[in-house]
Amino acid sequence: MLDNYQKSQPIAYRILKNAVSKDKYSHAYLFETNGFYDSYNLIFSFIKEILCKNINKETHNPQKCNICRMIDSGNYPEIEIISPDGMWIKKEQLRKLQNEFNKKAIIGNTKIYIIKEAEKLNKQSANSMLKFLEEPEEGIIAILVTDNIYGILETIRSRCQLIELKESKKELSVKNTNNKLSLILYNKEELEEEEIEKIEKVIKFINYYEKNHLDTIIYMQKLWHDYIKTKEDMLYAFDLMILYYKDVLNKISNRDIEIFDDYEKEIEEVSNKNTITEICDKLNILTDFKEKIKYNANAKLLMDKLVITLEGR
Ligand SMILES: [Zn+2]
Repeated sequence: MLDNYQKSQPIAYRILKNAVSKDKYSHAYLFETNGFYDSYNLIFSFIKEILCKNINKETHNPQKCNICRMIDSGNYPEIEIISPDGMWIKKEQLRKLQNEFNKKAIIGNTKIYIIKEAEKLNKQSANSMLKFLEEPEEGIIAILVTDNIYGILETIRSRCQLIELKESKKELSVKNTNNKLSLILYNKEELEEEEIEKIEKVIKFINYYEKNHLDTIIYMQKLWHDYIKTKEDMLYAFDLMILYYKDVLNKISNRDIEIFDDYEKEIEEVSNKNTITEICDKLNILTDFKEKIKYNANAKLLMDKLVITLEGR
């Protein structure tokens, strides 16, 4: 039930519930998940409110309701889900979707498509996506989902209603996998010395790379591998780099530095060397490479390739 998110996601809840009560929906929503662990459940709760006309009746039993059961089991014919095929969401995938949507609905009169990891729309597929969004058809609702809002083209972003989810402190500690990161985000003073040192190393690495580019590869052992050893360290270090570049983006856009205010001088230097587009590209590359770490990639190869990819953008 959408009502389950009233406390944890009050703003998103208000916007979505309001749409439900008026039965008036945007033709496109862009969910920025911000790492909220329950994002897809929230999104599907919203979808159920759109599609199941009985959901708010007292007699409604989700275990017995055909519509809700079909949605839960992934068999509702008017919902299409698109995830990246490899690195990107491809144009052909959207073409197939378009064909699907030209057919008449079997149930009801609303069709919904969900684009997972929408930041992975490449140039061509983003263009066909734009056509979708520019000429919205009656009864079709698009739901784009991303945890990297900077990877979404402005032209797409501006045509969607943004639903920003927040990752709250409580959820972080429940999840417990990202504890160190939560300390940086919320309780910097509680960090241990060893942690602070690790953060310094990662930031030194970025600053070294920004000055020396490909030469970074020669000193990779000293700059990186001597400190970042386990897979957990790698994931953590990538999160740090992503947060750091987000702060660079804040600086370029004349917004406040959110996290690394101790490194204002360094952030300014990096921001002077990059355009907004370049930083967004770098954020995308880092997000992609972070995914690769999860699949047991060889750390040494991966880091060399990261520098090469960042240079060859
Ligand atoms: Zn139902």
